[in-house]
Amino acid sequence: MKDARFDTRAVHAGDAPDPHTGALDPPVVLASAYAFDDAADAAAQFEGTRPGHIYTRWRNPTVRAFEQKVAALEGAEDCVALASGMAAVHAALLATLSAGDHVVAAESLYAETGRLLRGTLARFGVVTTFVDATDPAAIEAALRDETRVVYLETPANPTLAITDVAEVARRCGGRTIIVDSTFATPYHQTLLDRGAHLVVHSATKGLCGHGDAVGGVVVGDAERVRRVREEGVRTAGGALSPLNAMLLARGVRTLSVRMERASRSAAELARRLQGDPRVARVHYPGLTDHPGHAIAADQMRNGFGALLAFEVEGGRAAGARCYDAVELVSRAVSLGDVRTLMTHAASTTHASWTAEQRATAGIADGLMRLSVGIEDVEDLWADLDRALSSASSG
Ligand SMILES: *Cc1c(COP(=O)(O)O)cnc(C)c1O
Repeated sequence: MKDARFDTRAVHAGDAPDPHTGALDPPVVLASAYAFDDAADAAAQFEGTRPGHIYTRWRNPTVRAFEQKVAALEGAEDCVALASGMAAVHAALLATLSAGDHVVAAESLYAETGRLLRGTLARFGVVTTFVDATDPAAIEAALRDETRVVYLETPANPTLAITDVAEVARRCGGRTIIVDSTFATPYHQTLLDRGAHLVVHSATKGLCGHGDAVGGVVVGDAERVRRVREEGVRTAGGALSPLNAMLLARGVRTLSVRMERASRSAAELARRLQGDPRVARVHYPGLTDHPGHAIAADQMRNGFGALLAFEVEGGRAAGARCYDAVELVSRAVSLGDVRTLMTHAASTTHASWTAEQRATAGIADGLMRLSVGIEDVEDLWADLDRALSSASSG
């Protein structure tokens, strides 16, 4: 499977006919505990000299098959799956940091990741400096002797800001670089080959693709992933349910065909929105006027992903009217789903920010984030076109 290309690995990696039944689709093992042959077998399994699962919080065959599939797609030595994307982010950071360490993190981060750094980790004596991560020089300037982690997200929420991971790695030699790659999925970018040490995903999003399971993954070299597994799964108990592992592995088998369609439609919608007088601005890394376009063109592949954002002309009230008027597009958080989902940042994800904070972060009051699904692009455009007309006729 190592020599197979990406689309083939997505279908087959981690899967093999069940040795007991021949079942082609891997059976779901729900057992919490596994029988030992005798005392010597139990002792050998606990020592780690004989393979075995022992207890599902530690090891489960259905979860392991999903981990192997994701590791194969990321070109990683190993992968650990966790109960959610936040469990993955939390474990990656806790396995790497100790009291007194310093973190340099991107200003634009998933909200709960920001809370983890500002709240939980600060309480345990880890200090974080937040910088504009589109500027690798700013990251380098924020480094201290005690900086252990550089934490990034690319593309980042909600303006699809792009960070040049290879350039950051070059400037931060030795520090552990952790990147949240959820928005891209491994179909559009793999970052371990660009200098990231750990890559995390909310598997709830594009890897799952169907909006029916919550999960997370961390990939990297075997030793780092072992520490994340010890910390996040064995000790913190953030184990992924085997039922969710089955749903997530099934999602990953169709990742390429879903992302191919969704990113093509996203590029087409971005192009149409950009030429539309009812729209003030479009954020999509595939557009040549996006500030991160040149880096994204080099760092990403197979297109630029399913996420875009656009600013409705007329501010917050017009944005809300546009949001109220969509019918095919769902008003919902989350992303990477087969359904197209839309969020109005000023009323939802960034409602707790002041207008000034939003303005500094480039989040206009009429900003809509669109996670493009796999519906027919003409039906999506018809829905958006109608919603924009109601927004401008308010
Ligand atoms: C959703 C998301 C998370 C958190 O994932 P959960 O599965 O909801 O815990 C982390 N990072 C990014 C970029 C996300 O979109």
